[in-house]
Amino acid sequence: MAVIAALSMNAEMYNEMTYTKRGTTFTLVAQKAQAVQLNIYTEGTGGKAIKTVAMKKGPKGTWKAVVKGDLKGRFYTFNVKQGGKMLGENPGMFAKAVGVNGKRGAVIDLAATNPAGWENDKALGYAPTDIIVYESHNRDISVSRKEARYPGKFMALTEPWAIDHLKSLGITAIHLLPSFDYASVDEEHLDRPQFNWGYDPLNYNVPEGSYATDPFKPEVRVSEFKQMVKALHDAGIAVILDVVYNHTMDINNSNFQRTNPDVFYRKRADGTYSDGSGCGNETASDHPLMRQYMIESFNYWAKEYHLDGFRVDLMGIHDIETMNLIRKSLPEDIFIYGEGWSAGTCAYPAEKLAMKVNTYQMPGIAAFCDDMRDALRGPFNDDHQGAFLAGLAGHQESIKAGIVGCIEHPQVDYSKVNYSKKPWAAEPTQSMAYISCHDDMCLVDRLKTSIPGIGIDELIRLDLLGQTAVFTSQGVPFMLSGEEMLRDKKGVHNSFKSPDSINQLPWDNLQKYPQVFAYYKGLIALRKAHPAFRMGKAELVRKHLEFLPVGEGLMAFRLKDHAAGDQWNDIIVVLNANKHACMVDVPEGTYTSVVAAGKVDLDGIRTTTTSRLEVAAQSALIVHN
Ligand code: CA
Repeated sequence: MAVIAALSMNAEMYNEMTYTKRGTTFTLVAQKAQAVQLNIYTEGTGGKAIKTVAMKKGPKGTWKAVVKGDLKGRFYTFNVKQGGKMLGENPGMFAKAVGVNGKRGAVIDLAATNPAGWENDKALGYAPTDIIVYESHNRDISVSRKEARYPGKFMALTEPWAIDHLKSLGITAIHLLPSFDYASVDEEHLDRPQFNWGYDPLNYNVPEGSYATDPFKPEVRVSEFKQMVKALHDAGIAVILDVVYNHTMDINNSNFQRTNPDVFYRKRADGTYSDGSGCGNETASDHPLMRQYMIESFNYWAKEYHLDGFRVDLMGIHDIETMNLIRKSLPEDIFIYGEGWSAGTCAYPAEKLAMKVNTYQMPGIAAFCDDMRDALRGPFNDDHQGAFLAGLAGHQESIKAGIVGCIEHPQVDYSKVNYSKKPWAAEPTQSMAYISCHDDMCLVDRLKTSIPGIGIDELIRLDLLGQTAVFTSQGVPFMLSGEEMLRDKKGVHNSFKSPDSINQLPWDNLQKYPQVFAYYKGLIALRKAHPAFRMGKAELVRKHLEFLPVGEGLMAFRLKDHAAGDQWNDIIVVLNANKHACMVDVPEGTYTSVVAAGKVDLDGIRTTTTSRLEVAAQSALIVHN
């Protein structure tokens, strides 16, 4: 253990292929192997090996082979012999380039994949208080856009229409659903209709081939991913990758299993494989080899692709210690957040897992706040059940928790919060504020399902009201792509493999409902212009954020005394989910409204001297003095 721990921060264990013109060095960690065979191919799929080499065993279960000559453009597989059996060809556990469908590793010169100006590109270094996340899928966002030259591809996000839209909206970070090489889309047949979110990992350290213009040429996906990152960085947009280390597509054929059988997966006491992911297996972050693997993989993406952050799928399957080691191994300004839950029971003590309730033990790592999400839209386990937005009582305390960023606050009674019975974040930026994401129904579908007979005007009012809670939260705001154009998924709850017709963004809606985009854009601009909405420190939030007493269907808070150095003295935010206008008592003052009745104007809508604010039905009011 001591040796592995020392390795954790420094040496690379998993550098499986190093190319030079004179020769390529292959290494593989296969701790219990009896022999390891290296096969060299001319193609990424099919044909026979042109060369087979017996790798030599070195220290710590690391096998090595040096193949002389210029191997650039060749492909390779490893085949491990253990227990007298050959475990099957695979590209290794840490391939950095692969052929089509990720079956074979590829020898490429990584430096040659760098786009022009890459040497000057780097992560944007945003503080957590500056992050506003837009969760996007490489296919959803571009496949239906008429002027897209590269629909469904990484390169779409280099195109002016995409960059202009994101910049105009004002978000500061794009979160890409799984964009590493996953299994479920057949890269050899992209002419057939196929769609998947990509939560079925194959090769963790290679971009997905179906998002490349040519999945057969290994260098293309690497280069195009970098071009995408650079174009977004040039526009001031940080790039966050959704990473799924908690399970692999399957066990038997996985690269882990074919290299180090049973080492990378957790088992139950009875010897069966644990399934905390709900996908048939669960990886073992607590094992030194998997822990080291995750640390190296995060760092590889950060260094090679200049990524700005990571969204950790089912983070609650990983152990706290591993998440903290990953955090420490990365630059401080790389943003990390994850799902603080699992999909099933894990074969590991719950108190040691990176669950939401333990977030305060992981400084610099955030978790999704389902408390406020479900208090606004309704519970995750019943699409037909509404909550605050549907005008139902009993959700205020959970919304308050989300507004303060799930920290301890004298006015939040956690015994009344729907899932968390105590504060779980030490700092507000450890809480992700959101109302919808790719999982579950999008906001439009959820409002339609939970409020039968809802018309378009009411739907828009409630949509804007709900997002106001998100964008004025002291947590880090997060939105699903397309909410700004009132996307729907025709009521589909889980669209992970639904066709484009369900998942694509409705770009025409930008013209149809311009007030929705304008409101989102306005809220984002308001947040960016005013540090009071993103104080960053728990002590500042406790000092400057005060909830005002209100009745049911209402939420009101004051950001007082130039919070976090804000130019505005007091800011008052009121959310009214009632179907009628309401009055809210406030300290007497001269207030200028900047958000009212579905409109945002930072220069001020109207100014009045009063001690009572009137808030229109199903809308938010934000005033300042
Ligand atoms: Ca793939």
